[in-house]
Amino acid sequence: MRRGSLKNSNSVYIGRFAPSPTGPLHFGSLVSALASYIDAKANHGLWLVRIDDIDPPRESKGSTKKILQQLQEHGLHWDKEVLFQSQRNNAYLSAIKKLEGDDLVFRCYCSRKGLQGGVTTHNYPCRSENSTNLYSLRLKAKDNYKVQFNDLFQGNQGQLIKKDVGDMVLYRKEKLFSYNLAVVVDDAFQQITHIFRGGDLLNITPSQIYLQKLLGLRTPVYGHIPIAVDDYGVKLSKQNLAVSLDHNSSQRNLINAINWLGFKVPASLSKSRRPDQILTWAIHNWQRNNITCAEKKQLFNSFEA
Ligand SMILES: [Zn+2]
Repeated sequence: MRRGSLKNSNSVYIGRFAPSPTGPLHFGSLVSALASYIDAKANHGLWLVRIDDIDPPRESKGSTKKILQQLQEHGLHWDKEVLFQSQRNNAYLSAIKKLEGDDLVFRCYCSRKGLQGGVTTHNYPCRSENSTNLYSLRLKAKDNYKVQFNDLFQGNQGQLIKKDVGDMVLYRKEKLFSYNLAVVVDDAFQQITHIFRGGDLLNITPSQIYLQKLLGLRTPVYGHIPIAVDDYGVKLSKQNLAVSLDHNSSQRNLINAINWLGFKVPASLSKSRRPDQILTWAIHNWQRNNITCAEKKQLFNSFEA
């Protein structure tokens, strides 16, 4: 049986790719999308797409349409209707109400400037000297609460919530729900069992697991793949336009991304004009332990794992 395969079990596998529409897909996001897609398909699972559009000021017009089009061009077809976070405000509000009911939410009047660069914890209630009418809603960090998890690619990870995370924001002064809250609520709503995403999100995973625990939600399996970097070691991001995908060659993009994940696509496929042939090869040859973590990292050493 293939390593990590669920073929002979009754377990349901649901994976997902959840981009924010701040620009078109780039090589790094294609790698994340591909890893989650191939692992889901190699394990006979479903693969969902969600658009994390909860931050309109950061979004760029037309990105959602473009991203979905790019996924299709690369043969990455999703299994259920696309979910849009912008349609999910009621669910996020319900989650906050539940946390409020457990006396875990408080109003914070601190200015962003005054909070920059540090973990935010309070003696409740918030007694900011910069008090204005505007406030965010924060989640109380419990004393001595440890989150530990075993990442598929990065190994054992852990954080002390109060020391390393602080009182995380649930609802921002800008009247927008926080990314962590929305992601946790929607991953549960979509019954996601496996989350493969870029290693740059490793450091917010303990916050998300903390939220899952408080909301009584199941914690998925996490695999943070190494961050895609260019030849100079610079992280590939949507802000770095130099690394945008070659729109005329989805086949070449796919092969580059699969090889980047530690595989060697045979030369015979390099002339293939069909993304599905390349993806089929990748699914059949998929081995999680091929993914090498050149950038393997350890979260904060607040405590011995
Ligand atoms: Zn405050």
